[in-house]
Order: sequence, then C-alpha cells, then structure tokens
Amino acid sequence: MMLRKTYKCNQERKVIDISDFMPHKVSEVICIKCGKRWIAIRPENTLLEDMECPNHHIGFVIETGEELDEG
Ligand SMILES: [Zn+2]
Repeated sequence: MMLRKTYKCNQERKVIDISDFMPHKVSEVICIKCGKRWIAIRPENTLLEDMECPNHHIGFVIETGEELDEG
C-alpha cells in the first residue's frame, strides 16, 4: 500500500510518506501454531488475532513480550 502525498512548498516539491506519521508498534511475536518467531511492525490498532504468520496461520500470533524500539 502506497500512501504518498505531494505538495508544493517554496517551489520545491516534497514527497511525504504518510505512514511515517501513523503510530505503529514494533515487537517480537510468535505463532503458537508453528513456532515461528519474528519481528512484527504493524499499525498500533492491529489486533493480534488478525495477524498472519509467515506460514499463513491466522489467529495464532501472540507477543513474546519483547518490545523493540525502532531507534
Ligand atoms: Zn504459523
């Protein structure tokens, strides 16, 4: 999904990536179905039950409790 907005400012054209301004969460999650563990970056309001693991299991994802800062 591309969310880009272009506007003109002082005759300079700038492109802003709107997703930079959306609150999102970075944390380690695990699929309890297959045991796959990965770092998930998602919008803050995404439900874990809606997440899909890399092996296509939906609804089996839980957080490991490890939260990571993007820095
Ligand atoms: Zn899985």
